Amino acid sequence: MPSSPPRALTYRAHGNCYLNLTNRCTLRCGFCPKFRKDWVVDGYDLRLSHEPEAEELLAAIGNPRAFQEVVFCGLGEPTLHWSVLLEVADRLRAAGAAVRLNTDGLASWRTGRNVTPELAGRIDTVSISLNAQGEAVYNRHCRPPAEGAFPAVLEFASRARERLPRVILTAIEGLEGVDIPACRALADERRVELRVRRLDRVG
Ligand code: SF4
Repeated sequence: MPSSPPRALTYRAHGNCYLNLTNRCTLRCGFCPKFRKDWVVDGYDLRLSHEPEAEELLAAIGNPRAFQEVVFCGLGEPTLHWSVLLEVADRLRAAGAAVRLNTDGLASWRTGRNVTPELAGRIDTVSISLNAQGEAVYNRHCRPPAEGAFPAVLEFASRARERLPRVILTAIEGLEGVDIPACRALADERRVELRVRRLDRVG
């Protein structure tokens, strides 16, 4: 009988260590595997029994310099567990790790303040889910809780560009209505990178 995949606060893949801070999200993306009750990524079950404290995460990471990057990822939006994100990022940077944040780019919109100064000095790379070239396609796929999320993602990318060494926007190849060249143009206008992801590929 096949064994169940292990539940994971952290998991290793692609030479990186991924941190699973929360299962909460601001968005309800139609393409998200968790809404199909599929929580398994790279052989790990990312359903959390509780949201971890900083010490639990740091213990699960071990030596952060053993990885190319330590990545705040999910299956959830890491910025919703903000204080733990900042504390762990501080400790990782102090230990000499390269730190990436994968985010929906909505933390400033959600909180009503520009949070990018708080990420400066803690996060080396921020990877922001752009997911579409315009608000109509974005809203259809990502289902934000209110109007204005899409321009807020672009504003977050611009603010992050002023503060952080590396900013990447991501879009998903094969998602209905998504125009990858138009997404690339939005990234180019902001002088940030575009990474094209495959559907159902987390990380
Ligand atoms: S932000 Fe990520 S984890 Fe959250 S619903 Fe969208 S795809 Fe799923």
